[in-house]
Amino acid sequence: MSELSHKDWIGKASLIRFRDRAFIDGKPVAARSGRTFASVNPATGETLAKVASCGEEDVDRAVAVARRSFESGVWSRTSPASRKDVLLRLAQLLRENLHEMALLESLDMGKLVKDAATVDVPGSAAIFQWYGEAIDKIYGEVAPTGEGDLVLVRREPLGVIGAVVPWNFPLDMATWKCAPALAAGNSVVLKPAEQSPFSALRLAELAMEAGLPAGVLNVVPGLGETAGQALGRHMDVDCLAFTGSTAVGKMFLQYSGQSNMKQVWLETGGKSPNLVFADCSDLNAAADMAAFGIFFNQGEVCSANSRLLVQRGIKDALLEKLVQRAVATQPGDPLDPASKMGAMVDARHAANVMRFVDAGKKTARLVAGGDLVTVNGRGSFVQPTIFDDVAHSDPIARDEIFGPVLSVIAFDDEDEAIRMANDSPYGLAASLWTDSLSRAHRVAGRLRAGTVSVNTVDALSPMTPFGGFKQSGFGRDLSLHALDKYTAFKTTWIKY
Ligand code: NAP
Ligand code: MG
Repeated sequence: MSELSHKDWIGKASLIRFRDRAFIDGKPVAARSGRTFASVNPATGETLAKVASCGEEDVDRAVAVARRSFESGVWSRTSPASRKDVLLRLAQLLRENLHEMALLESLDMGKLVKDAATVDVPGSAAIFQWYGEAIDKIYGEVAPTGEGDLVLVRREPLGVIGAVVPWNFPLDMATWKCAPALAAGNSVVLKPAEQSPFSALRLAELAMEAGLPAGVLNVVPGLGETAGQALGRHMDVDCLAFTGSTAVGKMFLQYSGQSNMKQVWLETGGKSPNLVFADCSDLNAAADMAAFGIFFNQGEVCSANSRLLVQRGIKDALLEKLVQRAVATQPGDPLDPASKMGAMVDARHAANVMRFVDAGKKTARLVAGGDLVTVNGRGSFVQPTIFDDVAHSDPIARDEIFGPVLSVIAFDDEDEAIRMANDSPYGLAASLWTDSLSRAHRVAGRLRAGTVSVNTVDALSPMTPFGGFKQSGFGRDLSLHALDKYTAFKTTWIKY
C-alpha cells in the first residue's frame, strides 16, 4: 500500500527520467531514421518526451538480435530453475521500483497513480513471480507405446515472440505476454502502444538488471502501422501475441497469412454484460461493483461491465444507488490520492467517447454525467456517465466505447437476460448477481464469455485463464494455459 501524499507524488514525478529510445540487444538505441513521436501526459497536455519511432529496419534489427539470442541458448537452453531465479529477481525489482513504475504508468496514460501503485505494478510483479515459480514444476510426458520404444513428449520454446500491446494497462499487458514467453525460454520483441511506451522500456532495463541476458527482451516503441505491422509481417517471428482492438486483431491474422504463417494469439475487445437478478439480496454490493466494473481505469478496460442488465422489479432501486456512486466518482488529478478517476488516454480517444455519449443523449435517458471536463483547466476527462432505458440494439449498448459509459437495460426473465447478454459479437467476460446457487450455475453455464464472475465483477488472477469467445479473440493469457501459446510439443522417439 502506498501512503504517499499528493505533494509526495508531485515531488517524485519531477524526478522521473523517461527512457526515450528503443531497447535492443541490451542497449538504448535511437530509431535508424531518427524519427520520434511525442508521448503526452493526457492529464495536462504536456509532452513528457520524444520517443524513438521504430520503423521496419529497427524491427528487423530487434528480431535479428532476438533470433541470435535464442539460437545461442544463452536463455533458451538454460535450466528452468535458473530462469526462475531471474524472473523472481525481476518481480522483486518491480516492487523495489514501485513508485517510479506507478508514476510512469500514470503520467503516460492518465490513470490514477494510486491505482497503478496498488494494482498495476504489484500485479505485474505477482505475474513474473508466478511464472518464475511455475516453470520448474512442469513435466513432460512418456507416451505409453510399449516395449522397444521410448517416446518422450516435451515442451520446447517457439523462438522469437512478437508482442503488441495496448495503452490501458501498459505494464500489465506487456507482462501478461512477456512473463510466460520468457519463462518458457523464448526471446521477445515487444511493441508498446504509442500512447504509453515508458513502462515497457523501463521493464526491459529491470529485466537485464535481474539477470536476463542482452537481446532476450527487446522493446521497439513506434506506431502501430509501422512497427506493429513490421512485427506482424516479419518472416522470422514465430508467434505474435496481441492485445488490442478487434479491428487490429483481424489485421494480424492477415499479416500472418501473407507472410510466414506465424501463430497469432488475440485478446481483443469486449462489451461485457453484468446481469443483476431480483433475487440478489445485497444491492449495495451489486451497485458498488457495477460502478467499479465500468468506472475503474476510466472505463478503459477490455472486460469493463459496460452493459447492466437488471431485472425490472429492482431496476429503480439499483439505479438510484448507482447514480450516487457515479456522482461520487468525479475525475481529478491522477497524482492526487484523493482523486476517484483519472484522465482519458488522449484527447482523440476522449472525443471518440464523447461521440457515443452525445449520440446516447438522443436515444436514451441520461441519468448521470455526460460531459467532457478539465481538471485544473487542463487535460481530457470524461465524467462517469449512465444511460437508462437503453434499447438493446442501440450502438451505446452494442459497440465497445472504452470509456466510463454505462448502458442500463431492463429484462423480465432469465431467458431474456441470457439472450440479450449473448447477443453480441464479443464474449470476453460477464458478471451475474443472484442469491440462488442453482441460478448462478445455470446462467454461468449459458453465458458465452471467457470469464463469468458471480456476485462480483471482473474476477481475475494469475492462476486463472483470461481471454475471449467470438470476436474477443482466442488463446488464453495467465495461468499455466498461457504457456501453450509460447511452446510447441516435441516428440522424440527412441527405439531400443
Ligand atoms: P489498438 O488500437 O488495437 O492498438 C493495440 C496495439 O496495436 C497498439 O500497440 C497499436 O499501436 C497496435 N496497432 C494499431 N494499429 C496497428 C496496425 N495497423 N498494425 C499493427 N499494429 C497496430 O487498441 P488500443 O486502442 O491501444 O486499446 C484498446 C483496445 O484494446 C480495446 O479494444 C480493448 O478492448 C482492447 N483490450 C483487450 C484486452 C484483452 O485482454 N482482451 C485487454 C486490454 C485492452 P499504436 O498504439 O502505436 O497505434
Ligand atoms: Mg502518453
